[in-house]
Amino acid sequence: EAKKKGKNQWAMYDPTFEQERIRKSLIRQRLHVALEQHAISVYYQPIIDMKKNQLVGMEALARWNDEELGFVPPNEFISIAEEDGFIIPLGEYIFQTAVCDLKRLHEQGLTHVYVSINLSLRQLKNEQFLSFVQQLLEKTSLQPNHIELEITENIALSDEKQVIETIHALKQMGIRIAIDDFGSGYSSIGYLRHISVDTLKIDKSFIFEVTTNEHTAKLTEAIIALAHRLHLHIVAEGVETDQHVSFLQSTHCDKVQGYFFSPPVPFEKVVKQVQAAHI
Ligand code: C2E
Ligand code: MG
Ligand code: MG
Ligand code: MG
Repeated sequence: EAKKKGKNQWAMYDPTFEQERIRKSLIRQRLHVALEQHAISVYYQPIIDMKKNQLVGMEALARWNDEELGFVPPNEFISIAEEDGFIIPLGEYIFQTAVCDLKRLHEQGLTHVYVSINLSLRQLKNEQFLSFVQQLLEKTSLQPNHIELEITENIALSDEKQVIETIHALKQMGIRIAIDDFGSGYSSIGYLRHISVDTLKIDKSFIFEVTTNEHTAKLTEAIIALAHRLHLHIVAEGVETDQHVSFLQSTHCDKVQGYFFSPPVPFEKVVKQVQAAHI
């Protein structure tokens, strides 16, 4: 009996491991079908400028409700798509949808709004990425400074020359760069010396604690001051309560995003919100 058991025997027959593997491969298969059938949609979460008291931006967030799997959270399917490179066509689809939706918004005279799109490292490493973006800009003739691309600290820390060069080229085109989930990683802020960014998005884990943890509150205040000192835009994510809002007002945070204002919603709904906030 014992002889038959291989070294990795426990891993082979671990039922949760097996279930995870099956789910992953099912997601992978279904994701290909979903993209082909345009079953992936893009939702938008409003970004509010507290000084102007106006909806000024919206973050594009991928949504997938599969016939077989039900709702699959983006954290789950994005990381699977990153593993096998499927993030390239998927990311292009999301990017294109977001830019075309912004174009439709601008055509209605709502030209003050920008769109913020999450990027994966794989996309920045893709040699065709820059020309894809360039073509999309030409096709839509949108002002590039109304497009913001969100990268995580891990990406900003990448010492790969190509990634840094691509970020610079995007900036050169006039596109804005945001650091997403700022403060959540293990990273240093040294990358701010090497790549010039436009916006810091404070991670929601900070905001959740500003009213209960004095230390986190001070740290958050310091991050906002740092951003101002560097002439960067600052967005607080995960704003859920009016206490969060008061705190962020008193610390002069420019922009906010969170369930307190709105969850991510379909395009038609965000258009209504933009219109309502514009009057
Ligand atoms: P993220 O870029 O940090 O996006 C913000 C996440 O916080 C979204 O989760 C949003 O729904 C959620 N959120 C917004 N306000 C609140 C709030 O007040 N409270 C709480 N608890 N959560 C809030 P979502 O949509 O599930 O997306 C999760 C992550 O998946 C995103 O985090 C992003 O990293 C990734 N993701 C989503 N769409 C895309 C995409 O198109 N491309 C890439 N590369 N990643 C994406
Ligand atoms: Mg984001
Ligand atoms: Mg993100
Ligand atoms: Mg974030």
